[in-house]
Amino acid sequence: MAKSHANEDQISLFGEQELAEMASDPAERVTALRREIEHHTYLYYALDAPAISDAAFDSLMRELRELEDLHPELADPSSPTQRVGGFVGEQFSAVRHEKRMYSLDNAMDLDELDAWIARMVEAYGTMPPVCCELKIDGSSIALTYEDGVLVRAATRGDGTTGEDVTANVRTVRDVPLRLREEALGAIRAGSIELRGEVYMPKASFEKLNAAAEANGKQAFANPRNAAAGSLRQKDPKITQGRDLSTFMYAVADEAALDASGQWELLQWLRDAGFHVNPDVALCETPEEVHAFCEKALERRGQLPYEIDGVVVKVNSFAQQAALGFTARAPRWAIAFKFPPEEKTTLLRDITVQVGRTGALTPVAELEPVVVAGSTVARATLHNLDEVRRKDVRIGDTVIIRKAGDVIPEVLGAVESLRPEGAQPWEMPAQCPSCGSGIIREEGEVAFRCISIDCPAQALERLEHWASRGAMDIDGMGTEIIARLVESGRVSDVADYYTLDEVELSMLDMGRVNKEGEPIRLGAVMAKKLVAAIDASRTRGLSRMLFGIGMRHVGKTTAEVLGARFGSIRALAAATEEELAEVEGVGPKIAHSIFVFMRTPDNMAVIDRLDKAGVVLEEALSDPAEQLPQTLEGLTFVLTGSLTESGMTRDEAGAKLKARGAKVSGSVSKKTSCVIAGEAAGSKYDKAVALGVPVLDEAGFLQLLETGVLPEGL
Ligand code: AMP
Repeated sequence: MAKSHANEDQISLFGEQELAEMASDPAERVTALRREIEHHTYLYYALDAPAISDAAFDSLMRELRELEDLHPELADPSSPTQRVGGFVGEQFSAVRHEKRMYSLDNAMDLDELDAWIARMVEAYGTMPPVCCELKIDGSSIALTYEDGVLVRAATRGDGTTGEDVTANVRTVRDVPLRLREEALGAIRAGSIELRGEVYMPKASFEKLNAAAEANGKQAFANPRNAAAGSLRQKDPKITQGRDLSTFMYAVADEAALDASGQWELLQWLRDAGFHVNPDVALCETPEEVHAFCEKALERRGQLPYEIDGVVVKVNSFAQQAALGFTARAPRWAIAFKFPPEEKTTLLRDITVQVGRTGALTPVAELEPVVVAGSTVARATLHNLDEVRRKDVRIGDTVIIRKAGDVIPEVLGAVESLRPEGAQPWEMPAQCPSCGSGIIREEGEVAFRCISIDCPAQALERLEHWASRGAMDIDGMGTEIIARLVESGRVSDVADYYTLDEVELSMLDMGRVNKEGEPIRLGAVMAKKLVAAIDASRTRGLSRMLFGIGMRHVGKTTAEVLGARFGSIRALAAATEEELAEVEGVGPKIAHSIFVFMRTPDNMAVIDRLDKAGVVLEEALSDPAEQLPQTLEGLTFVLTGSLTESGMTRDEAGAKLKARGAKVSGSVSKKTSCVIAGEAAGSKYDKAVALGVPVLDEAGFLQLLETGVLPEGL
């Protein structure tokens, strides 16, 4: 504690004498001390008005700790001394939210905000009073109290199921372990779930990152990631050292509390001992809402924590209930997102990255700068044409633009600040990774390295093969792959299948321990990796075709090819014309596949995969088992996650395809239906804008059962 305080002896629940009298009965003294400490914690964190010095507070705490040590029978998990609990297990257990934790719909500018207000006016005849709050850029949290005592804290997870992070949240000092007595009367049931945001103040974030950097550890990209990461530590003591705070703003079930609306709820949360953001306003006109948003935007930089917008909520719970929810968000609330931020910084260098297919991408290496809440040190410049069009040169002062989660973008240079003699940038004549020549094919923007032995390409290809959507070799990450390539042990994907546990366990990770000995991968990881490599053998033809990385062959094309040809031999035997006739393939992709299959080096890798027992066939379904093709001619798009059934999008897509439907990656007017799971994103918005029918997960499951679209869609 380090806030200034009014008066050391002021505002104490008990007088000195009273405290002394209680000393004869340790149980009473312990209770009194706990209440006293809770009271000062409340004054400090919730009201921001400490009444005693840090030293006096510590002294009360010390006395309580000593008494509890002397009298173990008085132990109580909600005592203020118990903020650090025991170790939580390796993994956090899952918590199913009784009420879903929704996302929020966004308004990207004031016009979109006005459109939402207009919808509210339409629903009610006049504008309903709305509660405006700052949108805290942290990690959502749900706290459950039973009979006033904190029993569980859960993350949002996918909205339906989160993780149990109780032990960690107990260490967050402004989370009351016990609600204040005077607030309990308003709770209608024994248990109540309250929600809000855990965040890390900007200053603590910077300190944490400076320390990480000094220790050679990875820094967090922004305070939001730092808060989320700190919440999910295996050791609560680490969380405790992270200086997390909360702002609470919601109740899971309005019926559980004696409050008529958001404004009253915030007041109650404050009374109950929570930290509630003071910047709130109850607005009755669009002008008042605008003024709140503009003020928030102005003050954004001065606040000690990150905000990424303003949340506007219809105040009355009764009105909220009448408006209800869409598949992803409440209709009664909207998040006004701050416009993208622009900053200037120095372009130190333009480097060139070599991709999996040999494409060379220029990358801006920047003097690190904080834009829209995160530090930006690199940004892609896409290709040479883009560098020319923007005319950015090494040494330039460049303008960086970023909005929230969006990837940062270099807008251009401030020409008046260009150093004398700065030359237009040129693509290098040789591949920066292997020194081979580079070419630019006709009609293409990208330059490519021509060598198939290029280590940078090899690395990317190996990573792609091991990635989730391809062969899914769990645990085979960038660092391990890089070490395998460097050691010369692995240079193409077939080499994975020749690795054994002993040699993997000895793999030198390129770092040394305190004693100066090389750090090796170790037996545990080696065993896991060998099992994962083994499991990847049976993913089947289409995953393998996607994984091998033929140019222009993405996941969908690989699936089409897998289904059409059934085996790598059949595919390799196909003529260019036969390939081009396959629906969704066409001459360009056909040519790329044909050339790939006629390149002896590639076929040698495929032979070795075959010998290593990698399945190069698709399990073709038995026609007798084929489902009736009731969805033939329909095109579906999947978005969001299917949390109810736990199906992945690939699995859901396969089920639709099994009934003859097509599954596409983007929404257009031709889309027959969009399946929107939890936290559906822009595809959902596009479907609504185009008037494409949308099914939620329940509707989708019904569709799978009946095989037909619900009536009316
Ligand atoms: P988004 O993740 O962009 O869809 O925004 C929704 C999230 O904003 C919610 O899940 C909350 O975690 C967060 N949020 C931050 N501040 C507030 C607030 N005052 N009211 C509601 N949600 C908030």
